[in-house]
Amino acid sequence: MTEIKSFTYGQLENWITEQGEAKFRAKQIYDWMHKKLVTEWSQMSNLPERLRDLLKEQFALTVLRPVEILHSKQDGTRKYLFELSDGNVVEAVMMPYRHGNSVCISTQVGCRMGCRFCASTLDGLVRSLTAAEMLEEVYGVCRDLGSRVSNIVLMGSGEPFDNYENVMQFLQMITDDYGLNISARNITLSTCGLVPGIRKFADRKGQETLAISLHAADDETRRKMMPIANRYSIAEIMEACRYFFELTGRRITFEYSLAAGVNDRQTDAAGLAALLKGLPCHVNLIPINPVRERQFRQSHMTDVNHFKNKLEKSGINVTIRREMGRDIQGACGQLRRGFLESKKSQ
Ligand code: SAH
Repeated sequence: MTEIKSFTYGQLENWITEQGEAKFRAKQIYDWMHKKLVTEWSQMSNLPERLRDLLKEQFALTVLRPVEILHSKQDGTRKYLFELSDGNVVEAVMMPYRHGNSVCISTQVGCRMGCRFCASTLDGLVRSLTAAEMLEEVYGVCRDLGSRVSNIVLMGSGEPFDNYENVMQFLQMITDDYGLNISARNITLSTCGLVPGIRKFADRKGQETLAISLHAADDETRRKMMPIANRYSIAEIMEACRYFFELTGRRITFEYSLAAGVNDRQTDAAGLAALLKGLPCHVNLIPINPVRERQFRQSHMTDVNHFKNKLEKSGINVTIRREMGRDIQGACGQLRRGFLESKKSQ
């Protein structure tokens, strides 16, 4: 069944006009779905019954309900496991910051990128999410909080550029004045480095932040961590990043997950500094979150700090990501995996 929540405002208006209905009905329906976040057709109380019946007959009103919500006692982080209409489950995380609540959403069920430290990709890709489902991850969190959220990061399970069209539809809709109206500047999209995707995203000239999961300063080390490094070289990624900056003027974030003895040496830091020289950027160091099925271990905090200092001495803007929700399986894909395993054993 067609998901009405995947229609942009323009698409919904077209459909409404084709039905011979007045245009303002599109605004009303969009408002119920994307501003008031209702979960039932019957709640759209200002629509004539005939229109509500027609909508019900033709469309699915995608609504994601949490099957599990975990609350971190450490920092207020909440982790959600949402059930999709086909029975699959996806994770989203809400992190409270001083400047507002941030939601991290998944873009796919599973992932096929195969990063060797990540739990999301262990069973491969199941399917991509629709725009409606990604919006509903955000809406589901808003309903639980009883408030709006201010920031969105596409850093949950999945590779956004492996689901390009739906992700772009999602971005258009979540930033729409008629919807939640989240500023593009408050949205970050993270990619493992699909070069054609980065270039296409640049051509769109949006104001979202682009984050690159670099994790290494040389191809050999990167290949040990990420199979995608066999496909695109770091040089090609950097070229695409410079292109992105030229077209958008947006400073790029580089994510660098530190694994003990793999990519956390001083020579790695020097290599990274050389690589990023002259590109307006920000480095986010992430002490690797150990996943049971994976062999990578977290770097010692002293190595993490040395790494940071080395970058700073080279004039690079760097932060160490605060670990949030560690007590509630904060790492990508861990909650879904735990859920699927417990289901299997039942
Ligand atoms: N596919 C996208 C977005 C999802 S992952 C991407 O690769 O960017 C979000 C970030 O978390 C990525 O930088 C990813 O490499 C990192 N990550 C995944 N599992 C991790 C783990 N166990 N420890 C530390 N970082 C991890």
